[in-house]
This record gives sequence, structure tokens and C-alpha cells, in this order.
Amino acid sequence: MKKLLFLFDTDPVPSVFDTVVGYDGGADNITGYAGVTPENVGALIDGCIYTRGGKDKQNTAIFVGGGNMAKGEELFETVKKHFFGPFRVSAMLDSNGSNTTAAAGVALLAKGRDLKGKKAVVLAGTGPVGMRAAGFFGMEGCDVTITSRTKDRADEAAKVIEKRFGVKVSGAAGATDEERAEATKDANIIYSAGAIGLQLLPKSVWENNPNVELLADVNAQPPLGIEGVDAMDKGKDYGGKIAYGALGIGGLKLKLHRECIAKLFETSEGVYDAEAIYALAKEMA
Ligand code: NAP
Repeated sequence: MKKLLFLFDTDPVPSVFDTVVGYDGGADNITGYAGVTPENVGALIDGCIYTRGGKDKQNTAIFVGGGNMAKGEELFETVKKHFFGPFRVSAMLDSNGSNTTAAAGVALLAKGRDLKGKKAVVLAGTGPVGMRAAGFFGMEGCDVTITSRTKDRADEAAKVIEKRFGVKVSGAAGATDEERAEATKDANIIYSAGAIGLQLLPKSVWENNPNVELLADVNAQPPLGIEGVDAMDKGKDYGGKIAYGALGIGGLKLKLHRECIAKLFETSEGVYDAEAIYALAKEMA
């Protein structure tokens, strides 16, 4: 029986990235739907849950993606609520690669280390990846701060993360190098999650800061997010500060995304959102 993956994308065009990784994860056929909303998804879910019975059902799975995290989360909730009894299939949420990218980065930092009590600052932590990374640091017992170009936006995103993960997160202003230097002055961990092609931290800010132990940057396009951290870095030691760059993290992110897809087809009850994806990332890191 063919393994069918249905891509419910909140964007106007279904993601090529998620389609390719879906095939690499083991799907035999992928059908991408664009512009999927809580209002129009019902018939699509019905098509997934009423067409195959018993164990055969595990050969159908749903992936929720798209560029907007809030829309993705709302759609994923609608999908889960639509399921009842045996009328369900496995489903995964990874809007903008948020869960897999953040999980891969934080899992690599946490590998062989206890992050409990460390101060973690997520730069530009208001985007999909940054908000998930902040949640994972909170789950590790870190004292978490996210920055934004506006303090209000940082505070607003912090509240959303607190509600989603049940962890305490603070917001800080981070519009300029000076503000980001201030926000990171006590940081033990700096995770740079800014938009692509943006430098957020000059080398001079972190290299002489004795508090900084771990650095991670998920932006792969120059200029990179943290000056002096190479995209290929995977545990590189810069004078006692251990660094992970976007491609160093990206390898695990891709493996993790593929593994989640493979797992969707092992049962009809899998739910792959932040917690399950982070748990898998920690096993794989
Ligand atoms: P995003 O939503 O595009 O941007 C994150 C934050 O960056 C925004 O919320 C915004 O925060 C800030 N920002 C945007 N434009 C800015 C500007 N001109 N100046 C300063 N700050 C600005 O990012 P994302 O989707 O979460 O992705 C985060 C990063 O992960 C991106 O660089 C993406 O390319 C990368 N990524 C990497 C991988 C990998 O495997 N390595 C996979 C997926 C994504 P405020 O408006 O609050 O300031």
C-alpha cells in the first residue's frame, strides 16, 4: 500500500522544501494543498481518515507547514480536534522549519551538557524558529530571554511562548548592536534566530564576554547572524566558547525532518509537534 503524505500549507503555494524532504523521509506520494485554513481543511482531513481502515490507515499522514507559525499552529489544532476514535492519522507541524530547526540547534547545544540554570538569549527570537528555540531552552530549565527590534513585540512573543510551553520567558530590546550587546551581557548561551542574511552580533561583543559558553546561529546566508561563527561550525571551540553554525545545525535538522516523516507512517496516532520533535532531536544529536 502506498504511503501518502498530504501537505496542508498555509501559504499560497505549497512548499518545495517540505515536498522534497517528505519524499526523502519515505513518502511514496505527496499531495500539496495551498492556502489551507481551519475553515477549508475539514474535507481534506475527512479524505485522510475515512479512506483506509485498521493498520492500513498508518500509510496516510498529514504535514502542516507554511511560512506563518500562528496560522500553522491554528491549523494543526483544527486537524487534531477533527480526529476521533480510530478516525485519525499521524500528523506533523513544522511551519517554516520551526520545530525541526530549533530542535536540532538546541539539542546540539544540550548534548552532553546540563543547560539547567544557564541564561539563554535568543536574538530576534520572535520568528518561528526563535520562538520554538526559546521554548526548548525553557524546557531545559534555562533562564530565557528573547530580543526583538521592539520591546513590545519581544514581550508579546514571550507571552505566547510562556503559554505554549509553560515556561518563563523575558523580552528585551534588540534593535541595535548596542542593545543586543546589553541583552547578551550575562548570557551563557546565545542563539541567533534572525531573518536570513542578517548579522545580529559583532564578534567584538561575544569574544571577550566571559559569561558566554555556547553560540548557535541558524542563518546560513551571509552576512551570518553571529560574526566570527562559521556556517559549517559544529562544536567548534573559539577560546572556550563552543559554536554551531547554520549548516552545522542544518545537517541534523534535515535528518530529523526525514526521521519524523518516516515515523508518521509507523502508526496512525503519531503527533509530531514541538515536544515529540525535540525528544527525537535529543536522541539523534
Ligand atoms: P524570520 O521570521 O524571517 O525572522 C526572525 C526575526 O528576525 C523576525 O521575527 C524579526 O524580529 C527579525 N528581523 C526581520 N527582519 C529584520 C531586520 N531587517 N533587522 C533586524 N531583525 C529583523 O525567521 P525564521 O523563519 O524564524 O527563521 C530564522 C532563521 O532560521 C532564518 O535566518 C532562516 O533562514 C533560518 N533557518 C535555518 C534553517 C537551517 O536548517 N539552518 C532552517 C530553517 C530556517 P523583530 O521584527 O521582532 O525584530
